[in-house]
Amino acid sequence: MRATLDFLLRDWLGTASLLARARFAQHTEQTFSAVLDTCERIAREKFAPFNRLVDTQEPHFDGQRVHLPQATHDALAAYVQSGMLAAAQDYEVGGMQLPCVIEMAANAFFSKASVALGGYAMLTSGNASLLMAHGTPVQRNVFAEAQFAGRWFGTMCLSEPQAGSSLSDVATRAEPDGADFEADPLGPRYRLRGNKMWISAGEHEITVNIVHLVLAKIPGPAGKMLPGTRGISLFIVPKHLVDTQARLTGERNDVALAGLNHKLGYRGTVNTLLNFGEGRFPVRGAAGAIGYRVGRPGEGLRCMFHMMNEARIGVGLGAVMLGFAGYEESLAYARQRPQGRPITGAGKDAAQPQVPLIQHADIKRMLLAQKAYVEGGLALSLYCARLVDEQHTGDAAAAAEAGTLLDVLTPIAKSWPSEWCLEANSLAIQVLGGYGYTRDFGVEQHWRDNRLNMIHEGTHGIQALDLLGRKVVLHDGAGLKLLELRIRATAAQAAAVPELAATATQLRLALHGLAAATRSAWATGAPEEALANATPYLQAFGHLVLAWLWLDVGLAAQRSGSPLAPGKLAAMRYFHAYELPKLDAWLAVVARRESLPLAMHDEWF
Ligand SMILES: Cc1cc2nc3c(=O)[nH]c(=O)nc-3n(C[C@H](O)[C@H](O)[C@H](O)COP(=O)(O)OP(=O)(O)OC[C@H]3O[C@@H](n4cnc5c(N)ncnc54)[C@H](O)[C@@H]3O)c2cc1C
Repeated sequence: MRATLDFLLRDWLGTASLLARARFAQHTEQTFSAVLDTCERIAREKFAPFNRLVDTQEPHFDGQRVHLPQATHDALAAYVQSGMLAAAQDYEVGGMQLPCVIEMAANAFFSKASVALGGYAMLTSGNASLLMAHGTPVQRNVFAEAQFAGRWFGTMCLSEPQAGSSLSDVATRAEPDGADFEADPLGPRYRLRGNKMWISAGEHEITVNIVHLVLAKIPGPAGKMLPGTRGISLFIVPKHLVDTQARLTGERNDVALAGLNHKLGYRGTVNTLLNFGEGRFPVRGAAGAIGYRVGRPGEGLRCMFHMMNEARIGVGLGAVMLGFAGYEESLAYARQRPQGRPITGAGKDAAQPQVPLIQHADIKRMLLAQKAYVEGGLALSLYCARLVDEQHTGDAAAAAEAGTLLDVLTPIAKSWPSEWCLEANSLAIQVLGGYGYTRDFGVEQHWRDNRLNMIHEGTHGIQALDLLGRKVVLHDGAGLKLLELRIRATAAQAAAVPELAATATQLRLALHGLAAATRSAWATGAPEEALANATPYLQAFGHLVLAWLWLDVGLAAQRSGSPLAPGKLAAMRYFHAYELPKLDAWLAVVARRESLPLAMHDEWF
């Protein structure tokens, strides 16, 4: 994985060019490599050996406390020590001012070693980064800095039992806490009451405090809450109350653990149902969890989704790394497991010794598929992370262009690896046969862990609606037009290379098909007709993006003369030969606005 990562960063994305930017001026190619080396080592020593343990020793709630394995505490202490929680932040707040693409590449090692252990850190740095963007100076000094330093960890509390995909139905209430509620130095003070479901890292004793970021609605004058998302605001709700010097005041906030969720995978990250303000821990003489508003009333979702691109690219990259872990394990297995004999014109000769699995064409096909999915997924994640850097540190025109491209690419960056690197995990199990189906090997856990990624951070279906319903039509289709230009530019370069010319033609045809299907989907202007097949559209769009990126990576491989080039070109060829033709089937139902899903009656099932 490291060799591919270095190839993509250096030979394909040219990350060294970032060093010319003022923000990264104190870095060198060596400091970038050193960060990757350190993270690779910590992940190998403190995360990977305990990945199975945190799966089998699930978090346990004894009614008072949540127990986690000691390995969880140790791994996260090592992560905190590395300084990675603040990796992309300014030097003044203890950060390293790393580009997003390097930060994400470095964190990829942890996802590969143990995605569940890494979950606590990802949530904490996401929470603190959000506060840096939207918090007051005091909120940043108190809540963000304590998290960057790893003294407190954080959560994101959006979902409720009745409000998952539909956040407009959030029912947690936030009411001003006393007449002087606006005078609190930590921010306008409210009392929150409600239940938050599925909260990852919601209760533990890894750190002395937990900073919950909670979406809740502030009722209007008549005590009614605004319907829709407009009424949603964002609050900091610490488990233990603190003062402006980030010291615990000794008061427990009214946040109670109602129970743990017992999951298919990702078991090393504790997952909780939290009750806010039910009076279990009355605070300052009353029930109601104390929360400090972040940003203006009604802007909660906007604040929460400010970091959405990074968060979704991060989820996609986590899915890629689980795919990578399975690919490497099944590759190693296929190289050493003798089974069967080659098919030849003269039949099989049972007197000959068995050959390793990897000599069978069908096994090579499954390994090629995994390679194409996971290395392609890595290219996608890094490409998008590089666009985030362009958005933050490029000149005005480049920043705007990157933002427009990210609009259409972010749903793909999240959903494509979640679906296809999960498929890679399934193929890894298949390569191991019966052994893959047991708990003696890691491949079944990779699949279970990865199955989450199509569900959280916006389900697959919701990403599809976002892509076809909003992103490709936004600003008169500006994102799609820009993407088309980039795809055509790659195809033009490839057309000039004899070995790649046919692939370039295939890509152009596929692009034409997608553009035509997009127009047909919206031909009647009826959203219900266009969106009934949003998921096949998402699949086709994702595969087209991957076919483009593979061709672009193939061009870089050819130019580089790297020893990795033959493998990269073979994976590119695999993707174009076996995967790209799937587009036709997906786009056919989109283009004719296939009405079966809409027409289907409940009672016909
Ligand atoms: C392990 C785990 C960790 C999580 N961590 C967190 C966390 O830390 N913080 C947090 O706030 N949340 C967290 N979540 C919650 C997660 O974001 C939600 O599960 C997700 O948003 C889906 O909501 P839901 O489970 O209620 O499913 P639902 O919204 O009920 O969706 C069920 C199905 O219906 C589909 N669907 C829903 N609405 C529509 C529609 N309008 N059109 C078409 N299809 C639709 C969905 O795509 C899905 O397939 C976590 C979930 C899990 C499982």
